[in-house]
Amino acid sequence: MRKLASIQRIKSLENIEGADAIEKATVLGWELVVKKNEFAAGDLCVYCEIDSLMPDKPEFEFLKPRGMRIRTVRLRGQISQGICFPLSILPDEVKVEEDADVTEALGIIKYEPPIPANLAGVAKGPFPSFIPKTDETRVQVLQEMLNKYAGETCFVTEKLDGSSATYFFKDGAFNVCSRKLNLIEDERNSLWKVARELDLENKLRSLNMNIALQGEIIGEGIQGNKYKLKGQAVFFFNAFDIDRYEYFGFEKFISLMKELDLKTVPLISDDYKLENGIHDLVSKATLRSQLRNESWAEGIVIRPLTEKTDVMGRVSFKAINPEFLLKYGE
Ligand code: AMP
Ligand code: MN
Repeated sequence: MRKLASIQRIKSLENIEGADAIEKATVLGWELVVKKNEFAAGDLCVYCEIDSLMPDKPEFEFLKPRGMRIRTVRLRGQISQGICFPLSILPDEVKVEEDADVTEALGIIKYEPPIPANLAGVAKGPFPSFIPKTDETRVQVLQEMLNKYAGETCFVTEKLDGSSATYFFKDGAFNVCSRKLNLIEDERNSLWKVARELDLENKLRSLNMNIALQGEIIGEGIQGNKYKLKGQAVFFFNAFDIDRYEYFGFEKFISLMKELDLKTVPLISDDYKLENGIHDLVSKATLRSQLRNESWAEGIVIRPLTEKTDVMGRVSFKAINPEFLLKYGE
Protein backbone atom coordinates (compact mmCIF):
# COMPACT_ATOMS: atom_id res chain seq x y z
CA MET A 1 0.00 0.00 0.00
CA ARG A 2 1.12 3.50 -0.74
CA LYS A 3 2.11 5.59 2.24
CA LEU A 4 1.09 9.14 1.48
CA ALA A 5 2.70 10.43 4.67
CA SER A 6 5.52 8.74 6.52
CA ILE A 7 8.45 9.46 8.81
CA GLN A 8 11.56 9.69 6.64
CA ARG A 9 15.16 10.78 6.87
CA ILE A 10 16.47 13.74 4.89
CA LYS A 11 19.13 11.99 2.84
CA SER A 12 20.87 15.11 1.62
CA LEU A 13 20.52 18.86 1.25
CA GLU A 14 21.97 20.75 -1.70
CA ASN A 15 22.18 24.34 -2.83
CA ILE A 16 19.85 25.61 -5.52
CA GLU A 17 21.70 28.00 -7.81
CA GLY A 18 20.58 31.58 -7.33
CA ALA A 19 18.34 30.81 -4.33
CA ASP A 20 19.18 32.01 -0.82
CA ALA A 21 16.11 31.08 1.15
CA ILE A 22 15.50 27.54 -0.09
CA GLU A 23 17.46 24.36 -0.76
CA LYS A 24 16.93 20.99 -2.39
CA ALA A 25 16.28 17.98 -0.16
CA THR A 26 16.25 14.31 -1.14
CA VAL A 27 13.84 12.06 0.75
CA LEU A 28 13.36 8.44 -0.38
CA GLY A 29 13.79 8.90 -4.15
CA TRP A 30 11.96 12.23 -4.16
CA GLU A 31 13.53 15.64 -4.70
CA LEU A 32 11.89 18.64 -3.12
CA VAL A 33 12.44 22.18 -1.99
CA VAL A 34 12.69 23.01 1.73
CA LYS A 35 13.35 26.26 3.61
CA LYS A 36 17.01 26.81 4.27
CA ASN A 37 18.13 25.77 7.78
CA GLU A 38 14.78 24.20 8.67
CA PHE A 39 16.35 20.73 8.47
CA ALA A 40 19.82 19.23 8.56
CA ALA A 41 20.90 16.23 6.49
CA GLY A 42 20.10 13.07 8.48
CA ASP A 43 17.11 14.61 10.30
CA LEU A 44 13.83 12.79 10.47
CA CYS A 45 10.79 14.59 9.13
CA VAL A 46 7.22 13.88 8.11
CA TYR A 47 7.29 13.50 4.34
CA CYS A 48 3.99 13.88 2.45
CA GLU A 49 3.85 12.67 -1.15
CA ILE A 50 2.21 14.45 -4.05
CA ASP A 51 -1.54 13.74 -4.23
CA SER A 52 -1.87 13.94 -0.46
CA LEU A 53 -5.11 15.73 0.37
CA MET A 54 -4.37 17.48 3.66
CA PRO A 55 -6.99 18.09 6.37
CA ASP A 56 -8.25 21.63 6.91
CA LYS A 57 -6.03 22.47 9.93
CA PRO A 58 -4.09 25.66 10.72
CA GLU A 59 -0.71 24.03 10.02
CA PHE A 60 -1.81 23.24 6.44
CA GLU A 61 -3.59 26.55 5.88
CA PHE A 62 -1.04 27.55 3.18
CA LEU A 63 -2.40 24.77 0.95
CA LYS A 64 -5.93 26.18 0.92
CA PRO A 65 -5.48 28.07 -2.38
CA ARG A 66 -4.38 24.74 -3.91
CA GLY A 67 -7.43 22.86 -2.69
CA MET A 68 -5.40 21.31 0.16
CA ARG A 69 -3.68 19.08 -2.36
CA ILE A 70 0.08 18.60 -2.55
CA ARG A 71 1.18 18.90 -6.17
CA THR A 72 4.34 19.01 -8.20
CA VAL A 73 5.70 22.56 -8.35
CA ARG A 74 8.78 24.27 -9.74
CA LEU A 75 10.59 26.80 -7.52
CA ARG A 76 13.61 28.71 -8.81
CA GLY A 77 13.94 26.16 -11.59
CA GLN A 78 13.93 23.22 -9.18
CA ILE A 79 11.14 20.66 -9.49
CA SER A 80 9.71 19.93 -6.06
CA GLN A 81 7.59 16.88 -5.31
CA GLY A 82 6.06 16.51 -1.87
CA ILE A 83 6.50 18.45 1.37
CA CYS A 84 8.65 17.87 4.47
CA PHE A 85 7.10 18.90 7.78
CA PRO A 86 8.82 18.91 11.17
CA LEU A 87 8.02 15.95 13.44
CA SER A 88 6.18 18.41 15.71
CA ILE A 89 3.10 18.22 13.45
CA LEU A 90 2.55 14.64 14.65
CA PRO A 91 -0.05 13.98 17.34
CA ASP A 92 1.60 13.08 20.69
CA GLU A 93 0.57 9.43 20.60
CA VAL A 94 2.48 8.69 17.39
CA LYS A 95 5.73 6.81 18.01
CA VAL A 96 8.56 8.31 15.99
CA GLU A 97 10.05 5.50 13.94
CA GLU A 98 11.67 5.78 10.53
CA ASP A 99 9.35 4.68 7.69
CA ALA A 100 6.26 4.61 9.93
CA ASP A 101 3.07 5.33 8.00
CA VAL A 102 1.41 8.41 9.53
CA THR A 103 -1.17 9.00 6.79
CA GLU A 104 -4.13 8.11 8.99
CA ALA A 105 -2.77 9.71 12.14
CA LEU A 106 -2.63 13.01 10.25
CA GLY A 107 -6.02 12.58 8.59
CA ILE A 108 -4.60 12.62 5.06
CA ILE A 109 -6.44 11.02 2.14
CA LYS A 110 -5.45 10.46 -1.48
CA TYR A 111 -6.59 12.84 -4.18
CA GLU A 112 -8.54 10.91 -6.85
CA PRO A 113 -9.43 12.51 -10.17
CA PRO A 114 -13.20 12.58 -10.80
CA ILE A 115 -14.52 9.81 -13.11
CA PRO A 116 -16.22 11.33 -16.18
CA ALA A 117 -19.85 10.39 -16.88
CA ASN A 118 -19.06 8.47 -20.07
CA LEU A 119 -16.90 6.05 -18.07
CA ALA A 120 -18.76 5.80 -14.77
CA GLY A 121 -21.44 3.34 -15.88
CA VAL A 122 -23.84 1.28 -13.82
CA ALA A 123 -22.30 -1.46 -11.67
CA LYS A 124 -23.21 -5.10 -12.15
CA GLY A 125 -20.90 -5.87 -9.26
CA PRO A 126 -17.53 -5.06 -7.76
CA PHE A 127 -14.29 -5.64 -9.64
CA PRO A 128 -13.75 -9.44 -9.65
CA SER A 129 -11.43 -10.88 -7.01
CA PHE A 130 -9.91 -13.37 -9.49
CA ILE A 131 -8.15 -10.64 -11.50
CA PRO A 132 -5.66 -8.17 -10.00
CA LYS A 133 -6.67 -4.50 -10.25
CA THR A 134 -4.35 -2.45 -12.43
CA ASP A 135 -1.83 -0.44 -10.44
CA GLU A 136 1.78 0.71 -10.58
CA THR A 137 4.11 1.74 -7.78
CA ARG A 138 6.11 4.95 -8.11
CA VAL A 139 9.80 4.45 -8.65
CA GLN A 140 10.60 6.99 -5.90
CA VAL A 141 9.78 4.51 -3.13
CA LEU A 142 11.46 1.48 -4.69
CA GLN A 143 15.19 1.99 -4.17
CA GLU A 144 15.65 -1.46 -2.62
CA MET A 145 13.84 -3.19 -5.44
CA LEU A 146 15.88 -1.27 -8.02
CA ASN A 147 19.10 -2.33 -6.34
CA LYS A 148 17.94 -5.92 -6.38
CA TYR A 149 16.97 -5.97 -10.06
CA ALA A 150 19.57 -3.57 -11.49
CA GLY A 151 20.93 -4.91 -14.78
CA GLU A 152 17.81 -6.98 -15.47
CA THR A 153 16.58 -6.72 -19.08
CA CYS A 154 13.30 -4.84 -19.10
CA PHE A 155 10.77 -3.47 -21.51
CA VAL A 156 9.61 0.11 -21.22
CA THR A 157 6.21 1.39 -22.33
CA GLU A 158 4.70 4.83 -22.39
CA LYS A 159 2.29 5.43 -19.55
CA LEU A 160 -0.92 6.80 -21.02
CA ASP A 161 -3.15 9.13 -19.07
CA GLY A 162 -6.66 7.81 -19.47
CA SER A 163 -8.69 5.39 -17.44
CA SER A 164 -8.13 1.74 -16.60
CA ALA A 165 -10.14 -0.84 -18.59
CA THR A 166 -10.42 -4.57 -17.91
CA TYR A 167 -12.13 -6.93 -20.37
CA PHE A 168 -12.50 -10.54 -19.35
CA PHE A 169 -14.00 -13.75 -20.62
CA LYS A 170 -14.77 -16.37 -17.97
CA ASP A 171 -16.96 -19.48 -18.05
CA GLY A 172 -18.62 -18.39 -21.27
CA ALA A 173 -19.40 -14.81 -20.27
CA PHE A 174 -17.83 -11.54 -21.43
CA ASN A 175 -17.46 -8.69 -18.91
CA VAL A 176 -16.26 -5.12 -18.97
CA CYS A 177 -14.81 -3.40 -15.89
CA SER A 178 -13.64 0.08 -15.03
CA ARG A 179 -10.91 0.50 -12.45
CA LYS A 180 -13.09 -0.58 -9.56
CA LEU A 181 -16.39 -1.92 -10.95
CA ASN A 182 -17.86 -4.57 -13.24
CA LEU A 183 -20.23 -2.66 -15.57
CA ILE A 184 -23.62 -3.43 -17.06
CA GLU A 185 -23.60 -3.22 -20.87
CA ASP A 186 -24.57 0.24 -22.08
CA GLU A 187 -23.70 1.76 -25.48
CA ARG A 188 -23.26 5.18 -23.88
CA ASN A 189 -20.45 3.81 -21.76
CA SER A 190 -17.13 4.30 -23.57
CA LEU A 191 -15.60 1.11 -22.16
CA TRP A 192 -18.43 -0.97 -23.61
CA LYS A 193 -18.55 1.02 -26.83
CA VAL A 194 -14.90 0.32 -27.53
CA ALA A 195 -15.36 -3.36 -26.62
CA ARG A 196 -18.03 -3.69 -29.33
CA GLU A 197 -16.01 -1.68 -31.88
CA LEU A 198 -13.07 -4.03 -31.36
CA ASP A 199 -15.23 -7.16 -31.32
CA LEU A 200 -13.53 -8.09 -28.07
CA GLU A 201 -16.12 -10.60 -26.94
CA ASN A 202 -15.57 -12.82 -30.00
CA LYS A 203 -11.84 -12.32 -29.94
CA LEU A 204 -11.62 -13.47 -26.34
CA ARG A 205 -14.08 -16.33 -26.88
CA SER A 206 -11.90 -17.64 -29.73
CA LEU A 207 -9.05 -18.22 -27.26
CA ASN A 208 -10.92 -20.97 -25.39
CA MET A 209 -9.66 -19.98 -22.00
CA ASN A 210 -10.57 -17.79 -19.05
CA ILE A 211 -8.65 -14.63 -19.75
CA ALA A 212 -8.52 -10.92 -18.97
CA LEU A 213 -7.05 -8.10 -21.06
CA GLN A 214 -6.23 -4.85 -19.34
CA GLY A 215 -5.46 -1.53 -20.92
CA GLU A 216 -5.88 2.21 -20.79
CA ILE A 217 -8.83 3.87 -22.53
CA ILE A 218 -8.04 7.34 -23.83
CA GLY A 219 -9.69 9.82 -26.14
CA GLU A 220 -12.55 12.29 -26.23
CA GLY A 221 -14.14 12.96 -22.85
CA ILE A 222 -11.30 11.28 -20.95
CA GLN A 223 -8.72 13.20 -18.89
CA GLY A 224 -8.85 16.17 -21.21
CA ASN A 225 -7.91 14.03 -24.24
CA LYS A 226 -4.29 15.16 -24.13
CA TYR A 227 -3.53 13.06 -27.23
CA LYS A 228 -6.28 14.78 -29.25
CA LEU A 229 -7.78 11.49 -30.43
CA LYS A 230 -11.08 11.23 -32.31
CA GLY A 231 -13.46 8.98 -30.38
CA GLN A 232 -11.93 6.61 -27.87
CA ALA A 233 -9.43 3.78 -28.07
CA VAL A 234 -7.92 1.20 -25.73
CA PHE A 235 -4.19 0.47 -25.58
CA PHE A 236 -3.46 -2.79 -23.80
CA PHE A 237 -0.71 -3.52 -21.28
CA ASN A 238 -1.71 -6.83 -19.61
CA ALA A 239 -2.99 -10.24 -20.53
CA PHE A 240 -3.89 -12.36 -17.54
CA ASP A 241 -4.56 -16.09 -17.40
CA ILE A 242 -7.41 -16.32 -14.88
CA ASP A 243 -7.20 -20.07 -14.17
CA ARG A 244 -3.45 -20.02 -13.56
CA TYR A 245 -3.67 -16.61 -11.88
CA GLU A 246 -0.68 -15.28 -13.79
CA TYR A 247 0.20 -12.58 -16.29
CA PHE A 248 1.50 -13.40 -19.75
CA GLY A 249 5.19 -12.60 -20.14
CA PHE A 250 6.24 -9.93 -22.64
CA GLU A 251 6.66 -12.04 -25.78
CA LYS A 252 3.51 -14.04 -25.25
CA PHE A 253 1.59 -10.83 -24.61
CA ILE A 254 2.90 -9.13 -27.77
CA SER A 255 2.11 -12.10 -29.97
CA LEU A 256 -1.39 -12.36 -28.52
CA MET A 257 -2.02 -8.70 -29.30
CA LYS A 258 -0.84 -9.26 -32.89
CA GLU A 259 -3.00 -12.35 -33.23
CA LEU A 260 -6.08 -10.47 -31.99
CA ASP A 261 -5.19 -7.30 -33.89
CA LEU A 262 -5.28 -5.12 -30.77
CA LYS A 263 -3.13 -2.13 -29.91
CA THR A 264 -0.61 -2.13 -27.08
CA VAL A 265 0.62 0.87 -25.13
CA PRO A 266 3.52 2.45 -27.10
CA LEU A 267 6.69 0.40 -26.72
CA ILE A 268 9.74 2.55 -25.97
CA SER A 269 12.30 -0.23 -25.53
CA ASP A 270 12.37 -4.01 -25.19
CA ASP A 271 16.06 -4.16 -24.34
CA TYR A 272 16.51 -1.81 -21.42
CA LYS A 273 19.01 -2.79 -18.72
CA LEU A 274 17.50 -1.55 -15.50
CA GLU A 275 19.42 1.26 -13.77
CA ASN A 276 19.00 1.83 -10.03
CA GLY A 277 19.41 5.61 -9.98
CA ILE A 278 15.99 7.13 -9.38
CA HIS A 279 17.05 10.53 -10.70
CA ASP A 280 18.10 8.90 -14.01
CA LEU A 281 14.85 6.96 -14.25
CA VAL A 282 12.87 10.17 -13.81
CA SER A 283 14.98 11.77 -16.56
CA LYS A 284 14.17 8.81 -18.77
CA ALA A 285 10.48 9.44 -18.06
CA THR A 286 10.74 13.07 -19.18
CA LEU A 287 9.72 12.51 -22.78
CA ARG A 288 7.13 13.36 -25.42
CA SER A 289 4.17 11.13 -26.17
CA GLN A 290 4.54 8.65 -29.01
CA LEU A 291 0.88 9.27 -29.80
CA ARG A 292 1.31 13.01 -30.21
CA ASN A 293 4.73 14.62 -30.26
CA GLU A 294 3.44 18.03 -29.13
CA SER A 295 2.27 16.54 -25.81
CA TRP A 296 4.38 15.44 -22.88
CA ALA A 297 4.06 11.75 -22.09
CA GLU A 298 2.72 11.06 -18.60
CA GLY A 299 5.75 8.88 -17.99
CA ILE A 300 6.94 5.32 -18.42
CA VAL A 301 6.20 1.88 -17.02
CA ILE A 302 9.09 -0.57 -16.63
CA ARG A 303 8.82 -4.34 -16.32
CA PRO A 304 11.27 -7.23 -16.65
CA LEU A 305 10.95 -9.15 -19.94
CA THR A 306 10.34 -12.29 -17.92
CA GLU A 307 7.44 -11.71 -15.59
CA LYS A 308 8.58 -11.53 -11.95
CA THR A 309 6.89 -11.50 -8.57
CA ASP A 310 8.58 -10.25 -5.43
CA VAL A 311 7.48 -9.93 -1.79
CA MET A 312 6.18 -6.50 -2.81
CA GLY A 313 4.07 -8.08 -5.56
CA ARG A 314 4.56 -7.89 -9.31
CA VAL A 315 7.85 -6.36 -10.40
CA SER A 316 6.50 -3.42 -12.42
CA PHE A 317 6.65 0.26 -11.69
CA LYS A 318 6.07 3.73 -13.05
CA ALA A 319 8.20 6.82 -13.36
CA ILE A 320 6.08 9.91 -13.90
CA ASN A 321 7.27 12.79 -16.06
CA PRO A 322 7.51 15.87 -13.77
CA GLU A 323 6.98 18.17 -16.79
CA PHE A 324 3.65 16.45 -17.42
CA LEU A 325 2.63 17.02 -13.80
CA LEU A 326 3.62 20.69 -13.98
CA LYS A 327 1.88 21.26 -17.28
CA TYR A 328 -1.41 19.67 -16.31
CA GLY A 329 -1.33 20.62 -12.64
CA GLU A 330 -1.66 17.02 -11.64
P1 AMP B 1 -1.86 5.80 -12.03
O1 AMP B 1 -2.52 6.23 -13.30
O2 AMP B 1 -0.89 6.81 -11.55
O3 AMP B 1 -2.80 5.31 -10.98
O4 AMP B 1 -0.91 4.57 -12.44
C1 AMP B 1 -1.35 3.26 -12.62
C2 AMP B 1 -2.24 3.11 -13.84
O5 AMP B 1 -1.59 3.50 -15.03
C3 AMP B 1 -2.65 1.71 -14.14
O6 AMP B 1 -3.71 1.32 -13.30
C4 AMP B 1 -3.09 1.79 -15.61
O7 AMP B 1 -4.47 2.06 -15.67
C5 AMP B 1 -2.35 3.01 -16.13
N1 AMP B 1 -1.44 2.81 -17.27
C6 AMP B 1 -1.33 3.69 -18.31
N2 AMP B 1 -0.38 3.32 -19.16
C7 AMP B 1 0.16 2.17 -18.68
C8 AMP B 1 1.21 1.32 -19.13
N3 AMP B 1 1.93 1.60 -20.22
N4 AMP B 1 1.48 0.21 -18.40
C9 AMP B 1 0.79 -0.06 -17.28
N5 AMP B 1 -0.22 0.72 -16.78
C10 AMP B 1 -0.52 1.84 -17.48
MN1 MN C 1 -3.77 7.17 -14.52
